[in-house]
Amino acid sequence: MKNIILFGPPGSGKGTQAAMLKDHFNLLHISTGDLLREEIRKGSVLGTEAKQYMDRGELVPDAVVIGMIGGSFDTAREEGKEGIIFDGFPRTVAQAEALDRLMEDKDTSIAGVLSLVVDEEELTKRILNRGLTSGRSDDSDEATIRNRVQEYRTKTEPVASYYAANDKVREIEGVGSIDDIFQALCKAFEDL
Ligand code: AMP
Repeated sequence: MKNIILFGPPGSGKGTQAAMLKDHFNLLHISTGDLLREEIRKGSVLGTEAKQYMDRGELVPDAVVIGMIGGSFDTAREEGKEGIIFDGFPRTVAQAEALDRLMEDKDTSIAGVLSLVVDEEELTKRILNRGLTSGRSDDSDEATIRNRVQEYRTKTEPVASYYAANDKVREIEGVGSIDDIFQALCKAFEDL
């Protein structure tokens, strides 16, 4: 299996690009944000708990998201996928460590981390813009967006250092046309 992590701050285009990459390379797309929103939609206990954090722009507790991705590797194999593209996970070093343990169990590993680089001003602009159509409450309020970026800086950026120690991180310019960024990601994926 060729498993990758699509990394980057909120609004860097991870969701858009992951959806294109999964089709192009026959990957299972795992977005913990989408999984959580699905739980909220269903009105499950997990969703109700997660919503309180998401509405404030805070990260959901590690145990909750780690529990949600446990079956990913079996699903990918059952569906004949070439690997998994993780989008929005892992977001803390504890999640990265849990993912390592799970992969060891499943006899697989992370091939690389593709990291989208976008400056802060562009991020806020994009998220507010997305909020006009996405219906996501955490995309509409500037204080919540600032909180999400703050959570990213303090808790998620250290995840890049965690993988950089094994020389697994490739940075890709995340500003430009969707297609140019996609081409750059495809090349980086193939080079891994
Ligand atoms: P996203 O759709 O990836 O932007 O995620 C939306 C929100 O879901 C985040 O702001 C967090 O509150 C929560 N979330 C998604 N993925 C994770 C994760 N891996 N760890 C903790 N919280 C997460």
